[in-house]
Amino acid sequence: MKSQDIRKQFLQFFESKGHLIVPSAPIVTKDDPTLMFNNSGMAQFKEYFLGNGTPKSRRIADTQKCLRVSGKHNDLEDVGFDTYHHTMFEMLGNWSFGDYFKKDAINWAWELLTEVYKIPKDILYVTVFEGSKEENVPFDQEAYDIWKGLISEDRILLGNKKDNFWEMGDQGPCGPCSEIHVDIRSAAEKAEVSGKDLVNNDHPQVVEIWNNVFMEFNRKADGSLEKLPAQHVDTGMGFERLCMVLQNVQSNYDTDVFTPLIEKVETLTGAKYNSKAANDAEEKTNIAIRVIVDHVRAVAFAIADGQLPSNGGAGYVIRRILRRAIRYGFTFLDKKEPFINELVAVLANQMGEFFPEIKNQQSLVTNVIREEEASFLQKLVLGMDLLEDVVTETQGKEIEGAKVFKLYDTFGFPEDLTALILKEKGYTYDKAAFDIELKKQKDRSREANEVAKGDWIILTEGNTESFVGYDQTENEVKIT
Ligand code: ATP
Ligand code: MG
Ligand code: MG
Ligand code: MG
Repeated sequence: MKSQDIRKQFLQFFESKGHLIVPSAPIVTKDDPTLMFNNSGMAQFKEYFLGNGTPKSRRIADTQKCLRVSGKHNDLEDVGFDTYHHTMFEMLGNWSFGDYFKKDAINWAWELLTEVYKIPKDILYVTVFEGSKEENVPFDQEAYDIWKGLISEDRILLGNKKDNFWEMGDQGPCGPCSEIHVDIRSAAEKAEVSGKDLVNNDHPQVVEIWNNVFMEFNRKADGSLEKLPAQHVDTGMGFERLCMVLQNVQSNYDTDVFTPLIEKVETLTGAKYNSKAANDAEEKTNIAIRVIVDHVRAVAFAIADGQLPSNGGAGYVIRRILRRAIRYGFTFLDKKEPFINELVAVLANQMGEFFPEIKNQQSLVTNVIREEEASFLQKLVLGMDLLEDVVTETQGKEIEGAKVFKLYDTFGFPEDLTALILKEKGYTYDKAAFDIELKKQKDRSREANEVAKGDWIILTEGNTESFVGYDQTENEVKIT
């Protein structure tokens, strides 16, 4: 089944259960000071759970564009290295605002997975909150009993507070959750290790697909729980993971959500993606390709939703994601020319029907990415050479913090990138010294701003230094 149809079936199913289908909120949040990006389906409905405002319907379903690269949910470091965490992904969700509760939510989730999508029951595990004495939250007997009617008891696992209890914050709505996990390993692998032991254990073929949260408590300022006057359901299912299961493949990147993008990267770079890497070199290429096809989605959707790459706030996060992709292409696919922007056409073609913004903004998105690529590639060429010099000059295995800072400050070579390259070369750097330089720079620019606000612009040592990098060329610059 094509991913387009999988998404459609989810929405049609919940529509048939009386849900209003709403569009995804933008990936970038503009009116929530606590959140930079939408990182779950419920974010756009948060106020309803807090009792502010009334939803258009007490039953809603949608697919939400999510980005998990900052704050409480930050999966960035895993992306590319594993095959089931993305920066941007779609979260399919259904909600009850004071309407149905555990019985319907669980029964419908089960009906959808096993009857509509026809996932065999014996590859599924479900988890139920075990309770917590010190937090004074009870075992979720109610959910357990409902599951018992649907699945054999040896496939119901008890989960702890970390995995199976959801809280909006230190105070406010909270409640137990019940998650559904799949085990898509081969029979031989299953005979060797029970799936039970692999649930919530970072196994690429034993993964969580759907989280069902039951908001039934309110945590008060003193930490105690009271029953909420109205109970709510908030669910989130990873769309790409669901596609992996339904398309009978072992990785999200082998689904049709990603294969057209991967094929395009192969055409543009000459690199080859191997679903099963045979050696380290192949695995490095795979990681680079996964990083690129993942990150281009995050960046393209953010730009289409109005967030351009920039030097501050959400824009900086987007710029860094794009730069991470560029750098993987540069280092591992040996691509020194812009090419990521050419993936936007593939994405627009693939996703444009359901998310028209990506089609409508296609040329803007392409141009912005191309410009970013061109300018960062230039910096990379220069920075790599300089870093090479620094490494050659260094005795021992630790680079001076001030040198890393100079690369960052003068040449826009990000600290994390330097750290990554150094790590690959078997070097470290003096992080504490780097941080001191960074703080000094911040103080300088603050002072410079203060000065600039007055009637006179006084050129201090600080604000002349910030111009140093502009007209230097590769040959003239030496890091001292
Ligand atoms: P995991 O334990 O795999 O990191 P999670 O418990 O953090 O997932 P939830 O916050 O429960 O995830 O989100 C609901 C669903 O969204 C998950 O069950 C999963 O299918 C999907 N999901 C979560 N994070 C990602 C991600 N980074 N990329 C793709 N899908 C994700
Ligand atoms: Mg997670
Ligand atoms: Mg989890
Ligand atoms: Mg979860």
